Amino acid sequence: MSPHEHHATTPSRKADLNSEQPPHNGSMPGSEEQEAMEKTVEEEGDEEVEERNTDEGFMAMAPLLQAHHAMEKMEEFVHKVWDGRWRLFPHDVLPDWLKDNDFIVHGHRPPMPSFRACFKSIFRIHTETGNIWTHLLGCLFFLCLGIVYMFRPNISFVAPFQEKIVIGMFFLGAILCLSFSWLFHTVYCHSEGVSRVFSKLDYSGIAFLIMGSFVPWLYYSFYCSPQPCFIYLIVICVLGISAITVSQCDFFATPQYRGVRAGVFVGLGLSGVVPTLHFVISEGFLKATTIGQMGWLFLMALLYITGACLYAARIPERFFPGKCDIWFHSHQLFHVLVVAGAFVHFHGVSNLQEFRYTAGGGCAEDSAL
Ligand SMILES: [Zn+2]
Repeated sequence: MSPHEHHATTPSRKADLNSEQPPHNGSMPGSEEQEAMEKTVEEEGDEEVEERNTDEGFMAMAPLLQAHHAMEKMEEFVHKVWDGRWRLFPHDVLPDWLKDNDFIVHGHRPPMPSFRACFKSIFRIHTETGNIWTHLLGCLFFLCLGIVYMFRPNISFVAPFQEKIVIGMFFLGAILCLSFSWLFHTVYCHSEGVSRVFSKLDYSGIAFLIMGSFVPWLYYSFYCSPQPCFIYLIVICVLGISAITVSQCDFFATPQYRGVRAGVFVGLGLSGVVPTLHFVISEGFLKATTIGQMGWLFLMALLYITGACLYAARIPERFFPGKCDIWFHSHQLFHVLVVAGAFVHFHGVSNLQEFRYTAGGGCAEDSAL
């Protein structure tokens, strides 16, 4: 909306008053609109002193007209959002709750208090388009892979029912993580309350992915020593639930805690170092790197940790502010690395499953695997 449209709908006397106001962004929504409205009303007070003698009757009406006009503009804004006629916003005019990364200078969606408008925005180009699609497509990919895996003939498993539940935990974790994530990025601009609820789901999803990834890996790696397997499972569940609990605090989602967030989830993933060392010490390095799939696990850790570092340090947009607004900013790269890491983990786990199938259900005396 231009300042000219702004004037067009008001009485001509009001247009004169408005032209004395400092120029402001004509389509500021929600609370900003409210602020602009209050500012206009305040400044109206000063003018009233000057013009009292000549136009006292009209000036008494002016604040009311201003408020009415601002209401009209707000309604018009809501209609525009509803029709999908919103335009992209620069970072500095966003309300505080939408200000997350100041290296992403332009291309933001405005606050859009309509789920319909948020979901329609999936098909438009803005700062969240890449974040939404990376995890929406990732989610569909793991959903299809999971369905194919669950329908594999039982003859290709040693204990089909048990193994399908165990591997199903990985797929459940991955699908929950990726779907909470694309949903969060879709409705992030709805309103402060909605964004807060979905950001908590988004963080919890990462903990679900990590917990779900541990289940089949521990199951196959410690197939012949169920006691440590059980203890490690309990430990990862306790740690995962703790991470989910911390994610429910409002401060956890704030930009200042970006590094802490990355640290919490990297720490949760790195708790896998303990069972890994246990495995390497009891089985030997050679067996760990061949049958134990340590190479794939190492690659998975590398992908996740690189993603978390890019996320925490906001690389590359920190070095090119305004150049990575739409594509290739840190959050998008982090999303791609999460999908890649999850797939590498699945590959390692399915190799472990294949080894178990060829070895049969029996266990050698001195082997955890
Ligand atoms: Zn995300």
